[in-house]
Amino acid sequence: EKCVVAVDGPSGSGKSTVSRRLAKRVDGVYLDTGAMYRAVTWAVLQAGVDLSDPDAIAKIALETELSIGTDPAAPHFAANGTNVDEPIRGVEVTQAVSAVAAVPAVRKHLVALQQAIIAGHPRIIVEGRDIASVVAPDADLKVYLTASSAARAARRSAEDSADVKATEADLARRDKLDSTRKTDPLKLADDAIEVDTTGIGIDEVVAYVLNLLNS
Ligand code: C5P
Repeated sequence: EKCVVAVDGPSGSGKSTVSRRLAKRVDGVYLDTGAMYRAVTWAVLQAGVDLSDPDAIAKIALETELSIGTDPAAPHFAANGTNVDEPIRGVEVTQAVSAVAAVPAVRKHLVALQQAIIAGHPRIIVEGRDIASVVAPDADLKVYLTASSAARAARRSAEDSADVKATEADLARRDKLDSTRKTDPLKLADDAIEVDTTGIGIDEVVAYVLNLLNS
């Protein structure tokens, strides 16, 4: 039977780890929509396009051929034939991604791709910012993960060994851009279940969400 789970929330909320574990547990696939915005951003930066030019950004986004991995054990991404798993996590892409994701034509294009991928898989865990509200409003379960900004920064800097204070400042900067943009800002959907992961282990969060799914 079809099962779509939407996992939204800000970065560092534990979305990726929780989503990948959930996908494995339900023997489904995993879609990282943030990685799609990041891969397009990589292509935009490669093209040397001016980040204040939405038309130029949209043009590159539409031209970029994305290869989107959905295996929760190894979700590899390529853009125009180049593997981008490493650069999409780098500072240049992280700095620029909110600006690219704010362009309505980019969102329209990526949302359509996301919906096609969801339609093609019986069981899928989808993580992002607008999954419950825009991409998959009919999802079987919608969760919104949150955590204190200190906890989120601590998780992120443990992953990339960057300075915690600088990470916290960068998360705050992106949260502000993502939640105040005009098109599909990050927000808690009315019918989503909010899960605060501050001080809670990943295993507990996964168990809690699996329980919601089975109830
Ligand atoms: O989740 P992640 O940090 O990889 O997302 C990177 C950026 O992509 C976010 O800061 C946001 O600007 C954008 N994004 C989005 N909509 C999504 C997923 C990510 O706008 N569904």
